[in-house]
Amino acid sequence: MPFLQKYTIIPRYLTARTKRRPGIVVAPSVRFIVAHDTGNANSTASGNVKYYKNTENNESSSAHIFVDDKEIVECIPALTASPEKAWHVRYDITKDNELYGFNANDAAIGVEYCFGSAINADEAYKRYLWVIAYTCFKCNLNPQTAIVGHFVLDPNRRSDPVTGLGASGRTYEKLLKDIVTEYANCIQGISPTPPVIPPLPPSPVSPPTPSPTPQPVPAPSPSKISILTHIRDLLARLASFLK
Ligand SMILES: [Zn+2]
Repeated sequence: MPFLQKYTIIPRYLTARTKRRPGIVVAPSVRFIVAHDTGNANSTASGNVKYYKNTENNESSSAHIFVDDKEIVECIPALTASPEKAWHVRYDITKDNELYGFNANDAAIGVEYCFGSAINADEAYKRYLWVIAYTCFKCNLNPQTAIVGHFVLDPNRRSDPVTGLGASGRTYEKLLKDIVTEYANCIQGISPTPPVIPPLPPSPVSPPTPSPTPQPVPAPSPSKISILTHIRDLLARLASFLK
């Protein structure tokens, strides 16, 4: 089943086996997603990745994906190649283990939201929702439970993505709801053609009579159209009965 590809994800990987990108594949699988913001107003997706690249051997903090109003840039493989580990939540906090049974660094994709007066928040937010919803789809995660804000995991040190979202009057709670909606929309949006319901054959409908022998029920057909026709027929019978 495909997922509506609204945006392009630009792979711009850091060098493997550097401090920021250890090059270790997530195993056995991605278990959750951590929602971050950059904490640095007006820094862009490209700008953040460029900074990471320039300092990839100096520091070990990292994240997989940066999102602004124009771009979604993946600097550590997550969606455009086999997911690798990134260092985006401190190992010594335990909330991630309590909630998901894993350290975020070992099993979660980190997605960074860019914000600030120079960034169109509506456009950045749309891309942020979509790429998180797509991560759920790609990694087979439940969008209702798989996303957690960094501030939830590390409340004493972090306020992201609440701060970044708050810059445009949005809340974390809204983000979680909107991701679920986006996921549903992107799954439905790929329905190839609406089902065609053939007209019902004219059939006189008699009111049901109490009878010891139950009416034979047609066996369910594997065809979607037949099922729809059947449901419609039943509704017509019910409507006529209620008249
Ligand atoms: Zn963070």
